[in-house]
Amino acid sequence: MKTAILGLGIIGRAWAENLRKDGMPPAVWNRTPKDFPGFEADAARAVSGADLIMVVVADPPAVQEVLQRIAPSLRAGQVLVQCSTISAAWTRRFASQVERTGALFLEAPFTGSKPAAEVRKTVFYLGGDIGAMEKARPVLSRLSQAMMHIGPLGSASSLKLAMNANIAMVMEALSESLRFARAEGIPDDVFFQALQVNVSRSGVSDLKEAKLKAGDYAPQFSLKHMDKDLRLALESAGALALPQLQRLKERYDEGMKRGFGDEDFSVLARLL
Ligand code: NAP
Repeated sequence: MKTAILGLGIIGRAWAENLRKDGMPPAVWNRTPKDFPGFEADAARAVSGADLIMVVVADPPAVQEVLQRIAPSLRAGQVLVQCSTISAAWTRRFASQVERTGALFLEAPFTGSKPAAEVRKTVFYLGGDIGAMEKARPVLSRLSQAMMHIGPLGSASSLKLAMNANIAMVMEALSESLRFARAEGIPDDVFFQALQVNVSRSGVSDLKEAKLKAGDYAPQFSLKHMDKDLRLALESAGALALPQLQRLKERYDEGMKRGFGDEDFSVLARLL
């Protein structure tokens, strides 16, 4: 199976490297040219020989731009796997654009940031056509520890946004708790040792402990993308009351204004 990966950001690069290690080198494209084996300067050429096309770019406008570039080259028999985190409404819109070309569309947001992608611990949330999922399985299973079919088209994107809302709020709770402990003179090592055996220990605290202790905000998952995910969640929620999420989004707005967008989303701890 021939694969093309469109988007060589943090995640696309990790996936492309893993497929190369498996002897399945993908054709790759990125808006800003990259020195990477298999790089094609033209997105349409990158997808022309591919059975499976993975799109993993920033946000809905980025997905739209990629689809505009490749739509004339898409054809029946290909599967487009849309992995970027977007909303259900955008997913349905892009699916209809792709399906008009005869290609299949698979909704495939995922969880697991840079370290997980590097060691194939990504988990894909899949929505829509089961047939498209089965066609994509040989490649997605190499890149991930699990593939979960969530439901009809749009459901996987909604679940992904719900999960990120939870992660963002857990991260904020951890940051404020640590801030208080530090102010009370508790050393970070003691705080995290106690957390290991406390009911509030979380995947987020395990993942971010070293970064918070070191004040290292190099991105595993950037603030600007979490900001985008909270915006998409609140847009999708409409009039639904999500009071803490709305308040937290204001802190993300502040982080963006302060120029922290390209840093890890744990950088909000600095605003405290
Ligand atoms: P990233 O490192 O910031 O890379 C973003 C990619 O999008 C780059 O390839 C960038 O190209 C491209 N892009 C941005 N605007 C574009 C446009 N208008 N047209 C074409 N390409 C455009 O992002 P990432 O961390 O890999 O994340 C990619 C997606 O996965 C996002 O939707 C994110 O929310 C989601 N995600 C990420 C993680 C994570 O932990 N990193 C986890 C789960 C989900 P340039 O190089 O030209 O800017």
